[in-house]
Amino acid sequence: MAPARAEKVDLLDHTIDTISTVKLRQIFKSICKTCPEAKKHAEELLLADKKDAKTGPSINEEEKENKDAPAKDDGVKQPIPRFAFCANCEKEFDVTTNTSTSCLYHTMEDEPDDCLYEDNPTNPLDPDSMEAREEYPEFFWFKCCGRNRHEDEPCTVGWHKEMTEEKPYKRARASYVV
Ligand SMILES: [Zn+2]
Ligand SMILES: [Zn+2]
Repeated sequence: MAPARAEKVDLLDHTIDTISTVKLRQIFKSICKTCPEAKKHAEELLLADKKDAKTGPSINEEEKENKDAPAKDDGVKQPIPRFAFCANCEKEFDVTTNTSTSCLYHTMEDEPDDCLYEDNPTNPLDPDSMEAREEYPEFFWFKCCGRNRHEDEPCTVGWHKEMTEEKPYKRARASYVV
């Protein structure tokens, strides 16, 4: 009996790994609606208390002020999403573990060099697209530091900065981050 159960679990794992994210979201929401324990667990994993979010030095200053005025802290939790996409590095991050050294990023855009066109004359990709950057990262150089997309570390270290709706282009690019 035990092996049969193990097989079932593996099949479920496999299905979760291969199902579309749209379907997975639907099923996850449905589980949260029908099972209070699952909903509670999901809230613990996906939400954070606003006062636990670490978004940069300016917010820390605000926290300090709040500490000086404890009357403001009434212990009421303000739930916020725990995970966000970073406007700098374009990766997903946990807002409760963000530090001044969490984010590695470039301060300016990258651009392709002439070799991208010369070495790949039949390249069907738009040379300034995310697809071209993924396919030929060695041909892209960052304007801020002259470093290469393929082999170099980003030049700047700092806090992850939550992406806002005003940056639709950046948001679109974030979907390519693995
Ligand atoms: Zn740079
Ligand atoms: Zn970042």
